[in-house]
Amino acid sequence: MFCVKTVPAPTWVNAEIILKRLLSNRRLRSTFTSSSTTRPEKTDHGRNRSGAQLASARLQSPGRSGGAGRDRTNSSSAANEISVDFEQSQEAYRSKDSLELLRSLVVFKLCSYDFLVDKNEEIMDLGKKILGQKLFDQLMKMTFYGQFVAGEDHISIKPLIQKNQAFGVGSVLDYSVEEDISQKEETQKESSSVSAGGKGSIGEGYREKNYEAGEQLGDSQREVIGTCTYFYADEAKCDQHMETFMKCIKASGGSSMDGFSAIKMTALGRPQLLLRFSEVLVKWQRFFTFLSSQQDGMESLEQRLELTQLQELIIKLGAKGDFHGWFTRKKGDSAGCIDNLDWNSLLDDRVNTSDLLLAPNVKLDKLEPLLKNFTIEDENQLKRTLERLDVLAKCALENDVRLMVDAEQTYFQPAISKLTLDSQKIYNREKPVIFNTYQCYLKEAYKNVTVDVELSRREGWCFAAKLVRGAYMYQERERAEEFRYEDPINPNYESTSTMYHRCLHYVLDEIALNRKANVMVASHNEDTIKYTLKRMNELGLLPAENKVFFGQLLGMCDQISFPLGQAGFPVYKYVPYGPVSEVMPYLSRRAQENRGFMKGAQKERELLWKELKRRLVSGELLYRPVY
Ligand SMILES: Cc1cc2nc3c(=O)[nH]c(=O)nc-3n(C[C@H](O)[C@H](O)[C@H](O)COP(=O)(O)OP(=O)(O)OC[C@H]3O[C@@H](n4cnc5c(N)ncnc54)[C@H](O)[C@@H]3O)c2cc1C
Repeated sequence: MFCVKTVPAPTWVNAEIILKRLLSNRRLRSTFTSSSTTRPEKTDHGRNRSGAQLASARLQSPGRSGGAGRDRTNSSSAANEISVDFEQSQEAYRSKDSLELLRSLVVFKLCSYDFLVDKNEEIMDLGKKILGQKLFDQLMKMTFYGQFVAGEDHISIKPLIQKNQAFGVGSVLDYSVEEDISQKEETQKESSSVSAGGKGSIGEGYREKNYEAGEQLGDSQREVIGTCTYFYADEAKCDQHMETFMKCIKASGGSSMDGFSAIKMTALGRPQLLLRFSEVLVKWQRFFTFLSSQQDGMESLEQRLELTQLQELIIKLGAKGDFHGWFTRKKGDSAGCIDNLDWNSLLDDRVNTSDLLLAPNVKLDKLEPLLKNFTIEDENQLKRTLERLDVLAKCALENDVRLMVDAEQTYFQPAISKLTLDSQKIYNREKPVIFNTYQCYLKEAYKNVTVDVELSRREGWCFAAKLVRGAYMYQERERAEEFRYEDPINPNYESTSTMYHRCLHYVLDEIALNRKANVMVASHNEDTIKYTLKRMNELGLLPAENKVFFGQLLGMCDQISFPLGQAGFPVYKYVPYGPVSEVMPYLSRRAQENRGFMKGAQKERELLWKELKRRLVSGELLYRPVY
């Protein structure tokens, strides 16, 4: 049994506000003073926050009326103790009839066989040949599709959404159509749709290895397109995807009060473009790290460049631009230093600052224009991608839906994250509308999270994130080996879990400090969920505040989702939907990505058996959920 104790409201809120103001002024001063002045002290988690800030956050009033969420009766009193029992099979499966339990058992058992997971595409092709499309679809609906997918369209999924909601579990609608096309088709389609300027630059000059697309065009398409969720045909197809996402957002708004909709950026723009923009972002970041290592060897947010030294150094490297002038004009501070975020702002203004945007070409041992491989057509396509995201964000706002931008492969992710941040700056002013996703299997995860939290603080918008471990591990490792660059993934499972908890710890502290940030703990891992509940308890974060959400995939880990929901925590299922034939590639890939989980669904199978046996013995085998 795991218990979460709530903290009674304190009475000294005014003193608390004054203390916070003083502390935040101190933080502001230390951020903009030179690198030789005092820096904020690190906590045991290596963070730049004072102990007093966290202590005051822990004692802060939890604000019981905070959220516009669902009725969560279990958390109605501040003195209540909320218990979540993840062993309780009867509670976990109250929303399922016995046939559904039986189906889950069969599906989980089948998923535990490696050869079925590895060869599922071949097996499905064979099944279609033997049974014919109609019978095959029927079989899928009774098994895998029925277990993991809500229905064919936004109308047929409504009953499931409503049922889950009645049992305390919300939905993140996820239109999950992946195109399952052969590599040859990919090459043909991409070749016919790419504009003249776009392709000539692939593979030219120095490229970050992670973003290298291969020597030959065919290779580059296999690497870039073959692994992404959405296939790029042309800009019109991206518009079509946008329309589909809009329907999804409207369906989400229409079916619940506080819904989410998930989107994938590779559906909204050309993956090659995301790849090239990622390359630009990473080169720029690495140049900052290089320059700061010349001044002092600090990490990430602590790194500062003293402007006079920067100007001298950059001229020594062969550049001519007036960096000192640009930054002092922007910051209105003539004796200043700049940090990582200031450095990135130069890139935000890239149309006007292209002469200042340089990066080292390691092979030629000189600086060269950063945007060398980034054409005007790329810039236009990027603008169109951002416009599509903008349309979706507006639609989400109008329908009172939050938009979750999924994380994808590392070679697209810097661009995806940057476009998402640009959108958060606009739409997360009052409340969190856009959620970014951080993959904690990445070695850089903690840096990414802390830098973005700091940016949100500095610019005054609400940080909102989904934290995941990450879905593309095998693919990422294969690619790193093939292209001979450093594996971007943590060395083992334990280090990924440590990273997850470190990032989560940081974000939960941020929420406790300002009650502005939001996080979705998207995991099936019971230890991670328990860790979150424990920290929420320590920080006095209440479920009804609707700041910390939990997320699991539909058809997985009901023994976590439903007890959490019934205990009053805001918990959501990622709900994929779409036509059978089009969703099957999605399912197939999810099965392969989650093979570890599928094999380890032992506990889930035991709980399902326990409940089925209980129903049999107590004569409740024909039990039907009432709601
Ligand atoms: C609601 C929801 C939304 C999601 N959205 C996204 C998304 O947008 N993008 C995305 O990439 N994924 C997403 N995922 C999938 C997620 O990243 C994980 O793949 C999945 O949830 C399994 O992780 P876990 O914490 O649930 O379980 P666990 O079983 O505790 O963790 C398994 C994960 O640990 C990591 N891992 C396993 N072995 C190793 C190893 N040897 N070395 C290093 N790391 C290792 C991998 O990331 C693996 O997936 C989402 C998951 C959920 C539940």
